[in-house]
Amino acid sequence: MDKDALDVIHQLNAHGYTALLVGGCIRDVLCGLTPKDFDVATDAPLDEIKRIFRRSRIIGRRFPIAHVRYGRNLIEVSTFRQSVSDNIEHDAQGMILRDEAFGTLQEDAFRRDFSVNALYFDPNSKEIIDYVNGLADLAKRRIRLIGEPAVRLAEDPVRILRAVRFANKLNFTLDEDIVDLIEDSAARLQAIPPARLFDEFLKLFLNGNGEAIWQQIRHTGIARALFPTCNPNSDLVVAAMRNTDERIKSGLSVTPGFLIAVLLWEDFAARAAEAVTGDDDPAFATLRNQQHTIAVPRRFGTFAKETWIIQERLIKRNPRTIPRLAQHKRFRAGFDFLCLRAESDPALSECAAWWSSFQEQDEAGQYDMIEQLPKPQRKRRRRNKRRSTS
Ligand code: ATP
Ligand code: MG
Repeated sequence: MDKDALDVIHQLNAHGYTALLVGGCIRDVLCGLTPKDFDVATDAPLDEIKRIFRRSRIIGRRFPIAHVRYGRNLIEVSTFRQSVSDNIEHDAQGMILRDEAFGTLQEDAFRRDFSVNALYFDPNSKEIIDYVNGLADLAKRRIRLIGEPAVRLAEDPVRILRAVRFANKLNFTLDEDIVDLIEDSAARLQAIPPARLFDEFLKLFLNGNGEAIWQQIRHTGIARALFPTCNPNSDLVVAAMRNTDERIKSGLSVTPGFLIAVLLWEDFAARAAEAVTGDDDPAFATLRNQQHTIAVPRRFGTFAKETWIIQERLIKRNPRTIPRLAQHKRFRAGFDFLCLRAESDPALSECAAWWSSFQEQDEAGQYDMIEQLPKPQRKRRRRNKRRSTS
């Protein structure tokens, strides 16, 4: 277990508070996986946590918790909460708007989402505390919501995304109750702030299980809720998800901008094909339309846009501009994108192969390749006496 998380617990204990490890770290360790972060639950109120740890801050408006920083490591500390209380504010659809109903350890277990996420570990007694049959579900490899599934998913529809994510990460099955509520919960996702959905998008698709997750959701309302314009039958998306998973497994860098480019590609291409002078810039319109559901930070939107724009230039291969194009900052992403498109579009395979071998050549070889390209048809210009001397 993480020494920083243990330090948080020891310090809280030293101030007379109970503190335990909880959530994903216990679940993952019991499944033989390396936890990605560590969460601590305590009976210390937030302002006390803030006082005890100098390098801490309170985050979250809907659901405040404390972040305690140890260098680059961040420990999430939350105060025990109740699952049912007058201090939990709901909207008319049953969604939790604000939760500051603090409670006991046992109450805290019942307000958590899935049974396998509600296991606690006490480092002092080295005991696992399980109020919700989480250990049994772990053994049966099932994702089960604590309490009444419809109520729990209405409280926070993002739980449907978490359910799918954990099922794929752990290779668990979703309880039938959850499967039955997929469409209902997906429809509720429109009430979730687009910035939160962007975070969930990252967790879903940039964690090494993107392809399996996409396969599971692409024909459901979940995919429509996240990417309303994406074609569920797109081979490009599947290929890109697989490629991203492979890159993650090999320790290569991945950017959300690339997946955004892939997921919105057909929408962009359709807008670009329709665009008439004076209309909105098609890339801008595509991205703006997406912002209603998922708030894509500007730098990733720009990345997608540059990747799209370069496609046409890569395909055209204008001999005069090839050297400059190969130096373009989005050349690499644009080329990768083209290769993925070529996997499902034979018309592009010659072009993708050309660029691939172009990059393997030395300067002289590249020059030859450019020379051998068919000369582009110049648009006929009006004769200009002074220029047409040659
Ligand atoms: P990972 O960190 O691997 O994504 P995790 O289960 O630790 O998985 P976190 O988002 O770190 O997920 O949350 C920590 C714990 O807080 C969860 O295990 C769960 O007990 C509780 N939790 C988080 N989000 C919710 C939610 N939306 N509803 C109810 N409980 C939640
Ligand atoms: Mg966690």
